[in-house]
Amino acid sequence: MSTPFRVAIVGAGPAGFYAAGELLKAKDGSVEVELFDRLPTPWGLVRAGVAPDHPNIKAVTRVYEKTAALPGFHYHGNVHVGRDISHEELLAHHHAVVYSVGAPTDRKLGIPGEELKGSVGAADFVGWYNGHPDFRDLDLDLQVERAVVVGAGNVALDVARMLGMPVAELHTTDTADHALEDLANSEIRDVFILARRGPLEAAYTNPELLELGEIAGLDVVVDPQDVALDEATAAFVAEGADKTRRRNVEIVTEYAGRTPSGAERRIHLRFLTSPVEILGTDRVEGVRIVRNELVTNDDGSVSARPTDREEVIECGLVLRSIGYLGVELPGVPFDQRRGVIPNVEGRVTDLESGEPLPGVYTAGWIKRGPSGVIGTNKKDAQETVRVLLEDREAGRLADPSGDGAALHALLDERVPDRIDYDAWERINTHEKTTGEPHGRPRVKLVHVEKMVDIGKG
Ligand code: NAP
Repeated sequence: MSTPFRVAIVGAGPAGFYAAGELLKAKDGSVEVELFDRLPTPWGLVRAGVAPDHPNIKAVTRVYEKTAALPGFHYHGNVHVGRDISHEELLAHHHAVVYSVGAPTDRKLGIPGEELKGSVGAADFVGWYNGHPDFRDLDLDLQVERAVVVGAGNVALDVARMLGMPVAELHTTDTADHALEDLANSEIRDVFILARRGPLEAAYTNPELLELGEIAGLDVVVDPQDVALDEATAAFVAEGADKTRRRNVEIVTEYAGRTPSGAERRIHLRFLTSPVEILGTDRVEGVRIVRNELVTNDDGSVSARPTDREEVIECGLVLRSIGYLGVELPGVPFDQRRGVIPNVEGRVTDLESGEPLPGVYTAGWIKRGPSGVIGTNKKDAQETVRVLLEDREAGRLADPSGDGAALHALLDERVPDRIDYDAWERINTHEKTTGEPHGRPRVKLVHVEKMVDIGKG
């Protein structure tokens, strides 16, 4: 067994940082972690996904900063694995490679009109308001009065809230400047959230649902008929449903009983509703929706089944928020159907044989799919690191042919604009210092070139 033990981690979001922290626990420099990200900036969805009005959730970055200060930690931002350095080259310089690249794109609805201008994936919209460089120039027209959000998860609530809340409340956040400007000029007055199943089956959680009802200048509108439960469901809610679902039903029932205050903006929660077509010629003009009924399957799960009752919601913007999707990496197996890297407990497996590929691991959303909160990735990464260390103990990991110095020399040659941790700290300080006079946690840089300029000092 050669010393030090070297692991590459690809993707510097929560799963990548938790995996790095687990590996570097020894704190004696006997382990070296090379953490890669294709953006100059680390923290993945904590920076580019968590809603700007949820700063407490972002405080988790303090844990990642502690990990970054441990001996043996090296950061390589602005490096595209698969383009600047290949999977095989990573394997040649490390005992093991862990992929924790997340799920950067959206699931598709598969209905006509989905590609029209004005039909946007939530992942892109979230990236846009969070200042992700890829989505800075997203083609988005907020000069429309009505928007439809498809899906009933926490991301759907995030994007509806960002469209519905008074922009003044975002002025003390790290919302990207371009988004603050466009949201201030937005003409959106009504946002319709479409849940395909009922209030009991919705995927969002209690605090996020409650938050919607507490926004000043915004009415939450729920049709009482949508929350009227049949006898069997009412009995299940009373006795069988878990606490979160039961509370969700109570909250929407309370919303349904509210008298609209005549606020300037409204969020309408519509249940048992699916889009069947996005309407428009050059751009989105409306959504044709169908009323669903619930059916209980043989395995006890509950599905939505369309009825023949259809209607059209006129709108100029559709945000598809039905779940994120992983993307294939060159040289790494990928399960196209599930949008994840095939694995058993984090050991990446060959698609055909199902056998583990020596030295290749995965963690986070690209391992298990886009579910859970940020903390869920800690347990997930711990599992991956546990099997990785078991393989090391069992002698299943080959010694690399190249060491840290060889890797760094290769990266210097290939990626002159590589951002190391010191460079990231300069970017971080710059953003925080720019935000401070305005009472903002930071003003995000949204151009990679600018980040590189500042990072390189
Ligand atoms: P999600 O929780 O899986 O919700 C996806 C929603 O899309 C569900 O309501 C689902 O309905 C619906 N859906 C799926 N396919 C559909 C279709 N073809 N037509 C209509 N609706 C469809 O995903 P998410 O909202 O993207 O969130 C991802 C993860 O991040 C979740 O674990 C979430 O809790 C977490 N997150 C947490 C926070 C927070 O803590 N504040 C914020 C954002 C995200 P069905 O249930 O009927 O399938």
